[in-house]
Amino acid sequence: MRLVTYVEGDSARLGAVVDDRVVDLARVSGGEVPATMLELLGQGDAGMERARRALEGARGQGTPLGQAQLLAPIPRTPKNVMALGLNYREHAIESARARGQQVVFPEVPVIFTKAATSIIGPDADIVVDYELTQKPDWEVELAFVIGARARDVARADAFGVVAGYMVANDVSARDLQFAHQQFFRGKSLDTFCPLGPWLVTRDEIPDPGQLGIRLRVNGVTKQDSSTNELIFDVPAIVETLSHGITLEPGDVILTGTPSGVGVARTPPEFLRPGDVVEAEIERIGVLRNRVAAAR
Ligand code: ZN
Repeated sequence: MRLVTYVEGDSARLGAVVDDRVVDLARVSGGEVPATMLELLGQGDAGMERARRALEGARGQGTPLGQAQLLAPIPRTPKNVMALGLNYREHAIESARARGQQVVFPEVPVIFTKAATSIIGPDADIVVDYELTQKPDWEVELAFVIGARARDVARADAFGVVAGYMVANDVSARDLQFAHQQFFRGKSLDTFCPLGPWLVTRDEIPDPGQLGIRLRVNGVTKQDSSTNELIFDVPAIVETLSHGITLEPGDVILTGTPSGVGVARTPPEFLRPGDVVEAEIERIGVLRNRVAAAR
């Protein structure tokens, strides 16, 4: 299933995309399926099965996709969005070069978080305050969503707690990221975490480690790689994070970006007002956002 959160009236509703139409899952199931993504994720695999059944016979119903206003599939995560740094070798190399440092591949995952308030959905503007940052940069990433309350999950059981996948853009204010000892501020500015365009459920992506991943700015390809280049794969990340930390339904984890970010290019490039950024992952879709100046 391709699950979305979309605006209807003044509320955010859970829907599924069927034949380019957004079907309201609560309505089509007669209330069997809850009205929000977080509630559905809280019901685990049983909830997903009810949603799947509700969609049988839902063909032709709902709002045309082009007329639906999509929000991020999870507009507000239970925790901050968790993210990995330096999780593709080529990106670790370009990052070290850009900062004049020695290349070191991480032996354990580099983990930081982005404020939950930085999340935006597909087609929403990335709003940049150019008085605060002159170096806003792009990072396409495979994001996965936790679908169960879980602790101490072994690698072999990891996919059992994954509900599905999204495309993410880990927008980063490089000047702030590098000025402060920690990544948090540079990664957490409002609108700096586009997620979407939908949550593709786990059953549709048997191997998240074999997906083409790319990013374009104004139609020009800047990043082009495969998730088979990940240093730490999804099961390894689940195992590490869940050891000692309770993962909850709706938690979102970004798996790191491949090479081709702006700060590491010669000369460096950064996002400008009016730029259109398209982050794309095979079998998931395209997450498109425009850059706007705050003032
Ligand atoms: Zn990143």
